[in-house]
Amino acid sequence: MSQIQHRLQIVQQRIHQAADAAGRDPASIRLLAVSKQHSAEVIRRVAEAGQYAFGESYQQEASAKIAQLSAFPLEWHFIGPIQSNKTAGIAGEYAWVHSVDRLKIAQRLNAQRPAELPRLHICLQVNTSGEASKSGVEPAALMELATRIAELPRLQLRGLMTIPARQSDPAQQRRPFALLRQCRDQLNDAGMHLDTLSMGMSDDLEAAIMEGATIVRIGTAIFGPRSAR
Ligand SMILES: *Cc1c(COP(=O)(O)O)cnc(C)c1O
Repeated sequence: MSQIQHRLQIVQQRIHQAADAAGRDPASIRLLAVSKQHSAEVIRRVAEAGQYAFGESYQQEASAKIAQLSAFPLEWHFIGPIQSNKTAGIAGEYAWVHSVDRLKIAQRLNAQRPAELPRLHICLQVNTSGEASKSGVEPAALMELATRIAELPRLQLRGLMTIPARQSDPAQQRRPFALLRQCRDQLNDAGMHLDTLSMGMSDDLEAAIMEGATIVRIGTAIFGPRSAR
């Protein structure tokens, strides 16, 4: 077994153990392997170990890799900041987009989603860290944004995503994740049917699973460190 396949196994074990500790079914938590800055060749090895959902943050870089790996039945998730001029590529190449935080971007994705593809699965990125983060919709503005986006026919609003400010203390790590869960519960109480909480990365996946994560986005713990950008 290669080192990367071994690391993938360790991450799968961490997910299982955290699910057990939280009294949850491990099958209710999906692993998204975040492959940004890693080559198509490296992704192929992880795919061969049975991982098929991959997350990318930079559309230009990802697009080339997605084309190179088209022979594999992989599911691509876009998780990075979205510029208006990149929405056409994103609408055509991904199954999921986790980082929508503006109506204008959602409207463009809706208009540009190719007719022959199924609806694009969407998570709204929420700012759960207050002043410490600039990206994501504020919780107070979430209901309005979610209501508008849920009406767009080529998108399917699945849930919420967050990238909290880094914390090493596990109790502190859980706070933003608990907030995201409460935001999801409020939307569902208002009649939505959101089944997805995209939260938890290499350093805090246990805390995220304790608070109800259904997709954890793991880069470093599988692929090793990335170079600074
Ligand atoms: C890079 C990235 C990750 C993965 O982070 P790691 O700490 O390497 O696991 C997860 N989510 C998003 C949005 C990212 O940009």
